[in-house]
Amino acid sequence: MAEPAYEDRFAPGERVGILPLGALDRLLDYKASAEGLAPGAFVEVPLGPRQIVGIVWGPGTGEVPEARLRPVTRVLDAPPLRAPMREFLGRAADYTLTPLPAMVRLATRAPGLTEGQAMRHVYRMGPREIGRMTDARTRVLAVLRDHPEMSFTLGELAGMAGVGTAVIKGLVQQGAVLEAEAARDRPYPVLDLDAKGVSLTPDQMLAAAALRIGAEARSYNTTLLKGVTGSGKTEVYLEAVAETLRQGRQALVLLPEIALTGAFLARVEHRFGAPAAEWHSGMTQTERRRLWRMTATGGASLVVGARSALFLPFRDLGLVVVDEEHDTSYKQEDGVLYNARDMAVLRASIEKSQVILASATPCLESWHNAEIGKYARLTLPARVGLAVLPTVKAVDMRLEDIARGNWVSPTLANAVAHRLEREEQSLLFINRRGYAPVTLCRSCGHQLGCPHCDARLVEHRFMRRLMCHQCGETQPMPIACPDCGAEGKLSPVGPGVERLAEEVASLFPTARTAVLSSDLYGSAKSLKEAIEQIADGAADIIIGTQLVAKGHNFPKLTLAGVIDADLGLYGSDLRAAERTFALMRQVSGRAGRADAPGEAMLQTYQPHHPVIQAILRGDDEGFWRAEADGRRMAGMPPFSRLAGIVLSSEDAQDAMDKAVEMARNKEPLAKIGAEVWGPAPAPIARVRGRHRVRLLVKADRGAPLQDAIARWAAQFRFPSDLRLTIDIDPQSFM
Ligand code: ADP
Ligand code: ZN
Repeated sequence: MAEPAYEDRFAPGERVGILPLGALDRLLDYKASAEGLAPGAFVEVPLGPRQIVGIVWGPGTGEVPEARLRPVTRVLDAPPLRAPMREFLGRAADYTLTPLPAMVRLATRAPGLTEGQAMRHVYRMGPREIGRMTDARTRVLAVLRDHPEMSFTLGELAGMAGVGTAVIKGLVQQGAVLEAEAARDRPYPVLDLDAKGVSLTPDQMLAAAALRIGAEARSYNTTLLKGVTGSGKTEVYLEAVAETLRQGRQALVLLPEIALTGAFLARVEHRFGAPAAEWHSGMTQTERRRLWRMTATGGASLVVGARSALFLPFRDLGLVVVDEEHDTSYKQEDGVLYNARDMAVLRASIEKSQVILASATPCLESWHNAEIGKYARLTLPARVGLAVLPTVKAVDMRLEDIARGNWVSPTLANAVAHRLEREEQSLLFINRRGYAPVTLCRSCGHQLGCPHCDARLVEHRFMRRLMCHQCGETQPMPIACPDCGAEGKLSPVGPGVERLAEEVASLFPTARTAVLSSDLYGSAKSLKEAIEQIADGAADIIIGTQLVAKGHNFPKLTLAGVIDADLGLYGSDLRAAERTFALMRQVSGRAGRADAPGEAMLQTYQPHHPVIQAILRGDDEGFWRAEADGRRMAGMPPFSRLAGIVLSSEDAQDAMDKAVEMARNKEPLAKIGAEVWGPAPAPIARVRGRHRVRLLVKADRGAPLQDAIARWAAQFRFPSDLRLTIDIDPQSFM
């Protein structure tokens, strides 16, 4: 791997600015130690009587007089954060109006930063079978079998298996588990870049060639790789990965859903003879630390992960792929509010690297950027091994004869029956978790609501509980109405995925059904297994929420039925049409992957709605153009910029009073021509017992929005009970 340029070290005794990793949001001045200091180094410094960890961020501020300057205590054995990484974190903090230390914490979420390299014991599957198995022993061996690629310390293995360490020691003595000395942080297997992939189609070849040129350029560039599901986007961007690695640089592939990583790792292993390194919330602390260090030192060349992988300290990041780039889960909605897609572009522009945004249904912002030439655009027109996209039909629900409390129209049921005869799979899609969205008392009309939120409680019949989808509060299902006390009168209203499953079971009693909803699986791993079994044909009818829309591959699926295509068309949300369009396209794209042609059916009460019409015609470009025109006329993003401001408090009046005060004193915003809308109670006016009031700030594209908002917000005092959240480029308006 090529050596990145080194920065000049600070000389011994030189004044340096240290960014503490704790809560303080400012640089503190210290003196470099006797051997000098590398910029970006992790150090320990004295603060009052304590020692704290910080990063050498740059030259000192000069705040502390020379005589009182204290020396850095010691340099920690961790790879320094490189200049482009520090610049990225600084600019990401400015962009999202996040205090720098909070941003830096996203990049230092690896344990054991302060511990040096050392040997330690790790545990793996041993060669010997043992005679006497116990439950505890079985669990230990199961963990090792399920994670052949992971190394566990004694504590981690005991924790994951839920056993005491003595059980593991016993297995070691019997030879069923091996104990080995290992360097703490080993490099990841090297990918074989000369291994051959599939032979690409002419369209794919052209796209791959363009992306290879982008990798060779070693300069910033972004490409929108647009193609329907199954057109070979992954195959094509893996070519860009190979070229990036040949250049001696590193590549990162972001996926929206950790359930997708398993299939992706298998693809990479098939293509390059070794898997990618993975980064997600389910990893052990040891693996986290290993990957963090290996990205910094070059011992990991290809990383696949969730959005937070963007904050790994890559030594020379040459490529970031954002797969399913339109997916809303790239926006982090709590803590630090950032959009990983936009931050990927920011990071690449600093690191001089390539970004590939892959999607069948890009978000309007990306489509627009390609349209005006800010991004390059590559289109893969056809599906591989299949000439046609699924045919998409509307089922006009006004004409269907359907019983109350049922949701599957006779037309759709017929189509499913045909698939059952031909032993093909059908997918029924409804974007609602749980049994029913509303539970109503038929005696008094009361609707069950969350005690902490302005939201209804959703019945989850599999769990026998009511759940709030805002705050996660759960309660047992009551027998009597909590309002009028009538017993046996509570009844479900509207469909959820579980209720749909019940209807399907009565319509097709002999069919094998599988319900795919994120809340029905205890872990990412069990969900992944379920998906693999379904792909293998373990179910005839798949009933799923938006989880199934996210790029899973079901080769036997030939029918996709959308139960309520109208859901989402009416949202107060700016992106409602776009989201509905993407979701419908993704779901209908699920059908007919292998040799059997697919069919998609959208149940709708408004078959003439422009979004439904665009989907039926397969006219993607037409949809985006119409949507872009609408936004331009309304002066909405991407033709302007928004910031969502939420004030929350346990006291509704406090929140509203402060919001009114902010709306009245808006000079810094007015100066850049920005408008302030509101205040108004948020559409979800109460979450977790806190009342929420919203303001919306709108500015011209080129206006310095963040700067103005920072100066505006700085005018006000926020008592500790009052919380201010600033969301730049908001996705959600709830
Ligand atoms: P996308 O990412 O656009 O959904 P994939 O790259 O996953 O598409 O391709 C869909 C399927 O088709 C995969 O199984 C892939 O291996 C296969 N495939 C893609 N391109 C080719 C090709 N040129 N020859 C053979 N198989 C291909
Ligand atoms: Zn709640």
